Amino acid sequence: MTKIGFIGLGHMGEPMAKNLLKASFELVVYDLSKTKLNIFQSLGAKTADDHSLMSHKPDIVITMLPSGKEVRHIYENMIFPYIHPNVLLIDCSTIDVETSRSLSQMAEQKKIAMVDAPVSGGVAGAEAGTLTFMVGGSLKAFEQAKPILLKMGKTVIHVGGPGNGQAVKICNNMMLAIQMISVAEGFALAEKLQVPADALFEVASKASGQCWSLTQYCPEPGLVPTSPANKDFKPGFTTEMMLKDLKLSQQMAQNSGASTPLGAMATVLYTSYRNMVGGNDDFSSIIRFIKAKLPKEKA
Ligand code: NAD
Repeated sequence: MTKIGFIGLGHMGEPMAKNLLKASFELVVYDLSKTKLNIFQSLGAKTADDHSLMSHKPDIVITMLPSGKEVRHIYENMIFPYIHPNVLLIDCSTIDVETSRSLSQMAEQKKIAMVDAPVSGGVAGAEAGTLTFMVGGSLKAFEQAKPILLKMGKTVIHVGGPGNGQAVKICNNMMLAIQMISVAEGFALAEKLQVPADALFEVASKASGQCWSLTQYCPEPGLVPTSPANKDFKPGFTTEMMLKDLKLSQQMAQNSGASTPLGAMATVLYTSYRNMVGGNDDFSSIIRFIKAKLPKEKA
């Protein structure tokens, strides 16, 4: 039976790893949170501490960690020093392209296959097993990773060499951040014009204003039942995480000479909002900032 090591059992990693258990893979998990480890132990997975995961000799190791800093730390301290031949490394976290490419290079020097495979689809997609994976790496490593990724998602796309998955993901999330602000501004304007929110939703979701931020993740409460807006903006995808991705997009734009004025403005807006209320709520809660209706206890 294929044995999978899974590191990072947060909002995304927990449901993704649960789908691998459901698909009958043998699972060894690691996270800083003991609570998460207990959940997986009760479901029949093995648990590891920070240095023992590789001693279980997994065939595949998947990481789903917050940022490049944690991914590099785990790869340099927990994976590479204990690496064995024929293991496949899959990093599903969203991280900076440079870290991703440098870790891929280190893997290649050790003759180990590695892909970067960040995801889109949010917590709902992770729970339903309908994520989209954008995969960077050799075609051979992609073909090896694809059947595993299809147990956690519906769409798996090879987007080129090492780091290209991360590059595509950052472009996608910059588009998402901008679109979320545009949807929030639409509802803010409609409110001032005394147009009911459901009237705007009914039209825009079938018209040219249609986008994922409106139809799947609407920031206006009461319109899309699964939206964080209906759960007091419990994440989901935190404002802090979105800001991390926006900052990466601006770093990449600067390094490559790309012009991204709306990405720059979205970074300014999310930074101001995070500085006022903290970054723990879902990123769609930016609608409260746009409408200047910040919760009293946080404003
Ligand atoms: P999260 O903060 O909920 O989960 C991260 C997990 O990693 C936590 O359980 C934490 O305890 C663990 N962790 C952190 N440092 C660790 C370490 N050194 N060793 C072991 N475990 C460690 O984050 P998330 O929302 O699950 O996001 C994970 C990644 O997926 C991020 O890169 C994010 O940008 C990306 N992403 C998130 C979403 C979303 O909707 N939440 C969607 C797409 C992509």
